[in-house]
Amino acid sequence: MWTKSSATNALKFLARRHKLADTITGTDGITQDEQRTAIRNSLITIYRDLERLDGPSDEPGDKENIWGWDSARAEAIKHLKQSIPADRVNIYLTEADRNLQILPSNPSRTPYHYWCVARDLQILRYFMSLHRPDVPLPIFDIVDLRHFNAFVQRFEQEYVLVFQIGTRGLANLFAKTFVKIWMDICNKCRELGIQSISPTSLLDLLKTMETVKILKTVFYAYLFLGDPHAGEAVSLNHQYRMAAWLIELGMNRFIIAHEYAHIVNQHDGSREKRYDQEVEADRSAILLMLESAAAVTNDPVLPFCGAHIAVAVQQKIAQTVSCILDQPFTLNGYPSAFARTANIMGACERCGWLTSTMESMALEMLSFVDSIYSLIEPDLLDTAKRGRPLAKLWLGEGL
Ligand SMILES: [Zn+2]
Repeated sequence: MWTKSSATNALKFLARRHKLADTITGTDGITQDEQRTAIRNSLITIYRDLERLDGPSDEPGDKENIWGWDSARAEAIKHLKQSIPADRVNIYLTEADRNLQILPSNPSRTPYHYWCVARDLQILRYFMSLHRPDVPLPIFDIVDLRHFNAFVQRFEQEYVLVFQIGTRGLANLFAKTFVKIWMDICNKCRELGIQSISPTSLLDLLKTMETVKILKTVFYAYLFLGDPHAGEAVSLNHQYRMAAWLIELGMNRFIIAHEYAHIVNQHDGSREKRYDQEVEADRSAILLMLESAAAVTNDPVLPFCGAHIAVAVQQKIAQTVSCILDQPFTLNGYPSAFARTANIMGACERCGWLTSTMESMALEMLSFVDSIYSLIEPDLLDTAKRGRPLAKLWLGEGL
C-alpha cells in the first residue's frame, strides 16, 4: 500500500522532472515546437517500422493514429498478448491505466511513448512474477528528456521509474544504422571473397560508408541539439529491419529491466553500495530481458547483443561528454562497461543460457561498435572545439 506521503512526494518529483524537461529541451536555434514536430515525424518512422514487421502498412492517413491514446493502447495490447497469458493481459492493462490516471499532467507525454514503456514494464513484471511472489508496481512515467537512460527514485516504500524519451529514439536509430553497416560490411566481404577482415581494412571500409555518416549525424544531433532524431530517418529492407528490431528490443528492455531490478531488490541507491547494486541489477536484468524476449523470438542472440550495445553506447557517450566538457571521466562508483559486459556474460553462463554464438557475436558486435565510434568521436570533439555548445541538457542544468 502507498502511504500518502511517499506517493505524494513521488508524484511531486515527477511533476518537477516534467517542468525541468520543458525548460531545457529548447536548444539554440530550434524552438521547442520545431523540436516536437521533428520528434513526431521521427516517431511516425519508428512506428511504421514496427508496423511493417507484421506486414506492409503505409496507408496515407495512418499517421494520425499513433497520436491517439486508444490506438497506442491497442498496440500495447497486441504486444502484451504475444508475450503474456491472456488472463493476465487485462490485469496488467488496468494497472497501466490506473498509473496513467494518477500521473501529473504533462503535455509532452505522448501516447506512443507511454504505452511502449507500460507494455515493456508489464511484460518484464510478468516474467519476474514467475520467480518471486511480489512484483511491485512502481509509479512509472516517460519524461521528455533526451538522455539514453532511465532511472529509479525511491520515496520510502514507493518507487518511481522514469524512462527518458531519448532512449527509445537513440536505440531505434542506433540499431537500424548499426545493422545496416554490419550487413553492408558482411556483403562486401562476401563479394570480395574475404573470410575475416583485419581491423585496419575494416576501418578503411567503414570510412567510405554513407551509413557511418548517418550515425555520426545521429550522435551529433543527440549531443549538440539535444535530440537524437533531428530529422534523421534510416530505412531498411525487411530482413535488416527484423534484426534491428531485435537489437532495439534488447536495448530498451534491458534498460527498463535494469531499473526494475533495482526496485525488486530494494536497492537504496547509496554511493557505498552502488557497485554491488549495479552489478546485481545487471544480472537480474539480462536474465529477465532474455526470458521476456523468448516469448516473441526464438533468437536470443540479437537481443543479448542489444543489451551489450546499450551498455557500451552509454559509456561512450558519457566519455565523449566529459571530454567535451574537459572534465576527467569518472565512473563515480558504477562498474565500467567492460566489467558490466563480463558480469552479464557470467550471469548467463552460470544459468546455462550462454551459447558460444551469443558470446562470440556479442563480442564481435562490441568491437564493431568500438571501430565505428572511433571514426565518429573525433568529429564530435572537433565540432565542440569549433565552438558548438553541447545541448543544454548535458550541462547539468538542474539535472
Ligand atoms: Zn542502475
